[in-house]
Amino acid sequence: MRRQRGSGSVDANGYRIHRRPGHILAGADGRVYEHRMALYAEIGYGPHRCVHCGHHVNWARGRSKGPDVLVVDHREGSRANNLPYNLAASCNGCNTSRADE
Ligand SMILES: [Zn+2]
Repeated sequence: MRRQRGSGSVDANGYRIHRRPGHILAGADGRVYEHRMALYAEIGYGPHRCVHCGHHVNWARGRSKGPDVLVVDHREGSRANNLPYNLAASCNGCNTSRADE
């Protein structure tokens, strides 16, 4: 189920994206995922601990990936729900393995 309210656009994977060239998390194209903006606004710059394994992770711009890059988990699975209670800091490994469950 997609949330129809709100600004920005929804990509093919169901993630809402905004154009925010000045945002600290914006990629080279000036776009930022809504779930990343929402959790960043809640917890700020890190390092933070992955909620699953405790590994230290921190924010990176755009779509950077790596073992120490903070990935935002949707706790309840729904990519359309970007309210803070549904979001958690995760490492890429935990985020990926959870998505396969
Ligand atoms: Zn982890």
